[in-house]
Amino acid sequence: MQLKDTQLFRQQAFIDGSWVDADNGQTIKVDNPATGEILGSVPKMGAAETRRAIEAADKALPAWRALTAKERGNKLRRWFELMIENQDDLARLMTLEQGKPLAEAKGEIVYAASFIEWFAEEAKRVYGDVIPGHQPDKRLIVMKQPIGVTAAITPWNFPAAMITRKAGPALAAGCTMVLKPASQTPFSAFALAELAQRAGVPNGVFNVVSGSAGDIGSELTGNPTVRKLTFTGSTEIGRQLMAECAKDIKKVSLELGGNAPFIVFDDADLDKAVEGAIISKYRNNGQTCVCANRLYIQDSVYDAFAEKLKVAVARLKVGNGLEEGTSAGPLIDEKAVAKVKEHIADAVAKGATLLSGGKSIEGNFFEPTILTNVPNNAAVAKEETFGPLAPLFRFKDEAEVIAMSNDTEFGLASYFFARDLSRVFRVAEALEYGMVGVNTGLVSNEVAPFGGMKASGLGREGSKYGIEDYLEIKYLCLSV
Ligand code: ADP
Repeated sequence: MQLKDTQLFRQQAFIDGSWVDADNGQTIKVDNPATGEILGSVPKMGAAETRRAIEAADKALPAWRALTAKERGNKLRRWFELMIENQDDLARLMTLEQGKPLAEAKGEIVYAASFIEWFAEEAKRVYGDVIPGHQPDKRLIVMKQPIGVTAAITPWNFPAAMITRKAGPALAAGCTMVLKPASQTPFSAFALAELAQRAGVPNGVFNVVSGSAGDIGSELTGNPTVRKLTFTGSTEIGRQLMAECAKDIKKVSLELGGNAPFIVFDDADLDKAVEGAIISKYRNNGQTCVCANRLYIQDSVYDAFAEKLKVAVARLKVGNGLEEGTSAGPLIDEKAVAKVKEHIADAVAKGATLLSGGKSIEGNFFEPTILTNVPNNAAVAKEETFGPLAPLFRFKDEAEVIAMSNDTEFGLASYFFARDLSRVFRVAEALEYGMVGVNTGLVSNEVAPFGGMKASGLGREGSKYGIEDYLEIKYLCLSV
């Protein structure tokens, strides 16, 4: 591991302030996707341990929500500072279990910590309202209160940020939490729990359980003490969890799949568009839910854009994330590699041309790939690849590209490049997406509302809106 602080590498789950094993002693191995090497193991827990974590979160709730927002904010602030102080270790742990280049992992730690910092501040700004009475003797008061015990289920692509985006607002609002991180990347989650404890977050306020997704998930959704579930992952699992939450009418926040269109109009700054495409498509090796999935290039600039993109892609360096200068690590597993291969083979069979890459290198590594003249009936037009494949589609006019962009069940991120101001507003308003990047390939930050429309999810994370997902509105009708 070679961490400066070896206590950040935890191989036990965290319940009620204690590090614990599974009841039956079983474990799950965690490997390094770059080398296949086993890094360690974590408890394979199920419903019983999850129930205990929920009970701990319930027990911790009254005292936590009774603190002033400033007191809660101060603990979160300390958690943020500890993340920054331990940035190198946290990043190394992340690269080892997730594969992303160390520079990207360091960036993610800063990004992840920024949500804790932001919500440490926002805790103090949970304002209510006083509404003029509807009758002369009435005074109407609106207050906001924490929902209660919350459950979070997070994916492996951003092992730290997907957790802090949920834990930050939940804890700031006065909620407590039971988290189940992805089995591929549990060590980042445990390291965050260790730092939360050092920051003075009381026992039971933030619990982390690892193990069987189905068993833990069913307990989190089925246990009536849990009042809210927040999930980031696939639309398929999100749909299932939402259905399970229907029994108790639990509140849900869902960040699900995307199928981001990336549009380059003929008046765009092509160099800027290429720069945007590289960051939007190849960041995290294409494994983000906001990655450009379909690149629509207007006819007259199509060839020029493709040529420039090819040059930029040739500069990407694939390798072990711990090696200096690596810009693309491995994919998370063999299944991910197979999906990229499938999308390439399907598009080529339907008439697309390979412009760059196209092959797996070894293990889970894959060449950054560009396909041109991709037909609209290719699988990649409808499904998220979640890998380093940029398919270039051709379009003629604005109406056509808007129709193609919106022709999907998803509505998370979208991007377009144009300079004409009227066009910028027309297109931004017409895209059925929760986020629109205009002349930029990067839209995620802690001060902005991240989230999707349609089958991409419910709720928003980050920004002043993010804390609302963890609050109930209570209205007082006073007769004076
Ligand atoms: P991904 O493609 O990112 O792995 P998933 O939706 O499969 O997407 O996984 C996201 C998270 O959901 C992970 O933590 C995973 O363990 C968890 N998960 C998967 N299946 C279930 C399930 N049936 N119930 C609860 N959680 C699940």
